[in-house]
Amino acid sequence: MTTAPAQRKTLHSVVSGVTQQTHDTKSFQVRLPEAFDFQPGQFLMLSLEDPGNPDLKGKQRAYSIASSPTTQEYVEVVIKETPNGFFSKYMVRDCREGEKVKFTGPWGHFVYNESMPGHLVLIGAGSGIAPLLAMMRYLTDKRLSNKATLFFSNKTREDVIYEKKLAELPRQNPNLRVVNTLTREEEGDDWKGERGRVSAEMIKKHIPDVHGALYYLCGPPLMVDGVVKMLKEELGVDPAKIKTEKYD
Ligand SMILES: Cc1cc2nc3c(=O)[nH]c(=O)nc-3n(C[C@H](O)[C@H](O)[C@H](O)COP(=O)(O)OP(=O)(O)OC[C@H]3O[C@@H](n4cnc5c(N)ncnc54)[C@H](O)[C@@H]3O)c2cc1C
Repeated sequence: MTTAPAQRKTLHSVVSGVTQQTHDTKSFQVRLPEAFDFQPGQFLMLSLEDPGNPDLKGKQRAYSIASSPTTQEYVEVVIKETPNGFFSKYMVRDCREGEKVKFTGPWGHFVYNESMPGHLVLIGAGSGIAPLLAMMRYLTDKRLSNKATLFFSNKTREDVIYEKKLAELPRQNPNLRVVNTLTREEEGDDWKGERGRVSAEMIKKHIPDVHGALYYLCGPPLMVDGVVKMLKEELGVDPAKIKTEKYD
């Protein structure tokens, strides 16, 4: 399923599930009317067929697929409301089950495939968790032997998308580890994770062989660029071992 590039399709469907993830983020399941093949990490272009706000008709936005290709009933996307964002505001505030949507895909080269050996280091911030979660779900569903460590950076605990799912996955798949870090939380609460931005020290603390690992980074451009610089300059990671996807 994940070795050859998948055939791109346009599908008409409906939103079949909506889950509030955080104060400004929801996940959406979109029913699959037929087989839709993709690789973990790819994205789709989503548009609305008959939106409550007619100005949105025909507008499309890119969303990484958060579900695994092993899930055949639906694809899941997670959408964070962008301040003054046209499409994301409608999705988070007004989109309900039954909303008619169209999507095309899969798109993108930020992919995991089964021929990749070794330890995967997944580094995400905010809604950048989506393609990394797809990879973790895929490794788990396919019972693959790769070890994967997720470093998930958020401002506060209230911003942690998929908090329960990310606690559950390492219990299902002992090859997975999740390191949460908060960059703005007040001191003195009961937080058990890391604090501060993902740093060279944090990576060395959790990854035994930093040079043997493959790095997948997804999140806002400033965060991704900063982590790439740190990996190359402070840890001496080979740039060929770093894959990135950037979006706010
Ligand atoms: C490959 C890829 C994958 C992605 N995956 C995800 C994902 O999984 N989850 C997710 O939430 N997002 C994802 N995105 C981002 C997503 O595609 C949208 O860009 C995002 O939802 C914002 O869309 P919007 O219509 O709400 O914002 P827009 O209305 O397009 O606005 C975007 C920004 O521009 C500003 N802006 C708008 N109009 C003006 C103006 N006239 N003057 C100045 N500034 C203005 C807004 O304030 C906002 O900050 C992804 C993007 C890419 C490229």
